[in-house]
Amino acid sequence: TKFGDFPLTSATLKGLRECGYHKPTQIQKETIGLALQGKDILGAAQTGSGKTLAFLIPIVEKLYCKQWTKLDGLGALVITPTRELAYQIFETLRKVGEHHDFSAGLIIGGKDLKFERNRMDNCNIIICTPGRLLQHMDENPLFDCVNLQILVLDEADRCLDMGFEHTMNAIIANLPLKRQTLLFSATQTKSIKDLARLSLKDPCYISV
Ligand code: AMP
Repeated sequence: TKFGDFPLTSATLKGLRECGYHKPTQIQKETIGLALQGKDILGAAQTGSGKTLAFLIPIVEKLYCKQWTKLDGLGALVITPTRELAYQIFETLRKVGEHHDFSAGLIIGGKDLKFERNRMDNCNIIICTPGRLLQHMDENPLFDCVNLQILVLDEADRCLDMGFEHTMNAIIANLPLKRQTLLFSATQTKSIKDLARLSLKDPCYISV
């Protein structure tokens, strides 16, 4: 299988090629097709499996297919447990998404709330850590996610281990119900199953 075997836009294929990605990893192979069909996914995958592209490719494709523009606002949200992971995802998106013109923002704290808030108002894709996102949702009455198409819960087990269960539940409760959700977790504990029940609709299970 090559990335070209999936119905991807030339902008995405070009970005992948320029980054030196030619063949999808196992998790990418199994996730991309289903995600492009709009399915919710519960993916059992470790760091290092290539799961970042497994969710970033469907994100940029979905927004592109919906002819997303700056005016449509926030279309995709990626929640990941740590700042470092958020940076890595953001960098991968910047490189692979080079030929798309979506704007992406990091919401991870460490910066002025107001600075982040201005940034958020102009973002199509947000990569964030849970605590900081909820802070924005709570404090900014103008936080607008009505158009959200796709939510990614990355390393969800680590989020729960770090004590973000209530934070994640509160975030999810504030998001539109009509959306696609991809949840990735290295382990499948009871609390992950609870989170899956709360956030996913009729999910496909993928384990690599
Ligand atoms: P991740 O699990 O998403 O953190 O990715 C782990 C590493 O695999 C990263 O260094 C990626 O650059 C690399 N990687 C991801 N997908 C591919 C691919 N299809 N081909 C080659 N390397 C990849």
